Amino acid sequence: MLNKWEGIVLKSRAYGESNKIVTLMTREAGKVTVMARGAKKPTSRLAGVTQTFMHGMYMVQRSSGMGTLQQGEHLASMRHIQTDIIATAYASYIVELVDRLVDEGPEPFAFEVLLQALNAIEEEHDPEAISLFVDWKLLPYAGVQPILNACSSCGSFDGEFAFSFSQGGFLCHRCFHQDPYIIRLSPTQLKLIRMFYTVPIDQIGKLDLKKGTKQFIKKIVTTIYEEQTGIRLKSRSFIEQLERTPLLTRRTNSDEHID
Ligand SMILES: [Zn+2]
Repeated sequence: MLNKWEGIVLKSRAYGESNKIVTLMTREAGKVTVMARGAKKPTSRLAGVTQTFMHGMYMVQRSSGMGTLQQGEHLASMRHIQTDIIATAYASYIVELVDRLVDEGPEPFAFEVLLQALNAIEEEHDPEAISLFVDWKLLPYAGVQPILNACSSCGSFDGEFAFSFSQGGFLCHRCFHQDPYIIRLSPTQLKLIRMFYTVPIDQIGKLDLKKGTKQFIKKIVTTIYEEQTGIRLKSRSFIEQLERTPLLTRRTNSDEHID
């Protein structure tokens, strides 16, 4: 059967002398792995469309087992992501996260999050804020559904709140005793966490966050991933290396405000 899918290349590995094995996140069929024969040769018409981050239309012949990529055409070549080291680092993190969390079968929401995130990075919005946003949006795929509208223990909507990793969400001041490791939240931080979880994905490029805000959000979301899902991504270490290189990251440490 010949399928035409809109897809984004999550991963592309050399296979043999001249082939590539390509993992695509498609809108229609979710994550699929295909063989791209000859794609390793620079002259192949499949060479460009099988590069990581590429967004395109892909014609895949599928019988039993792995499908074969017959043809592909670019929708976006993600030039900025391919050439800017900071953009590459965060985009690598995002595609690796999607690859780890999403199983086979249609997952249109995850596809849309991935597409919007890469487009926003390509348009040179803050890649760090975007990757944090993706972290929050994909939590359900890691089996985590944080309770952020009320106290996760007693259901109260009022009072002071803290974030509790063991409860998987907010705790109100009446329930603080249930977890000795809570992170106390100011009303602004409370709003911010909710906003991260509820803001629609097409707003992804509009997030304009201060460095301190990003660090706070990152602390919470990376702790959730590392402690509750056991996921630690290779590309995260690369980002941490970059962050220790001040000259490269200065550009993303803006002091603009969030509304
Ligand atoms: Zn409570």
